[in-house]
Amino acid sequence: MHRTKVRVATDVLDANATIARANRADFDRAGVRVVNLMSAPGAGKTALLERVLIDGLPAVRPGVLEGDVQGSFDADRLSALHVPVTQLNTDPGFGGECHLDANMVRSALGAIALEEIDLLIIENVGNLVCPAEFRVGEDARAMISSVTEGEDKPLKYPLMFRACELVVINKIDLLPHLDFSLERFLENLDRVHPGVEHMLVSARTGEGVDAFAGWLVAVARGGAPAA
Ligand code: MG
Ligand code: ZN
Repeated sequence: MHRTKVRVATDVLDANATIARANRADFDRAGVRVVNLMSAPGAGKTALLERVLIDGLPAVRPGVLEGDVQGSFDADRLSALHVPVTQLNTDPGFGGECHLDANMVRSALGAIALEEIDLLIIENVGNLVCPAEFRVGEDARAMISSVTEGEDKPLKYPLMFRACELVVINKIDLLPHLDFSLERFLENLDRVHPGVEHMLVSARTGEGVDAFAGWLVAVARGGAPAA
């Protein structure tokens, strides 16, 4: 019984990897680089993207694929910034899944104006578990961990913190009001993903947002982030 379960899970991930490679080939053909942005719900993915898109990315035309279980609240916020935004809902259609997988992204490709963009930012469904398991054809993965989530999160969700090339620590404007130890968080992060690049930002005040924008531009220009 246990072995059957393991084999099914392996088959699912193998099938996903095959479709992710097909997505990647389509993105490459279109000259579009892709970032998969992951975090827990409420960590500030959309707020950070708003900040970045308001200021703009030098010589990079961004687009966003907005993943949510239901609704288009975040897509509506971002489309007000005159950036091409495509909504991808996992319910209905994909059983209300709590993550995006390669097949869902593939189903949305026809709705994304790939010829009009250089960088596609995929805002994954807010979830610290399964988004880390499913590649979708991206060039780089970034995850956001906000200081309100506590410094133990790298130890509790190690796969998520390992499966990314960048950890953005958000809401640092709240640090004076919290018992959050940045030092302990960074120690925990180093235990699960030694040497991973990290940056301190506040999407609310704008502090550090230029560094994240610079990282996105580097990905768009083909700079491969160190895994
Ligand atoms: Mg969001
Ligand atoms: Zn899931």
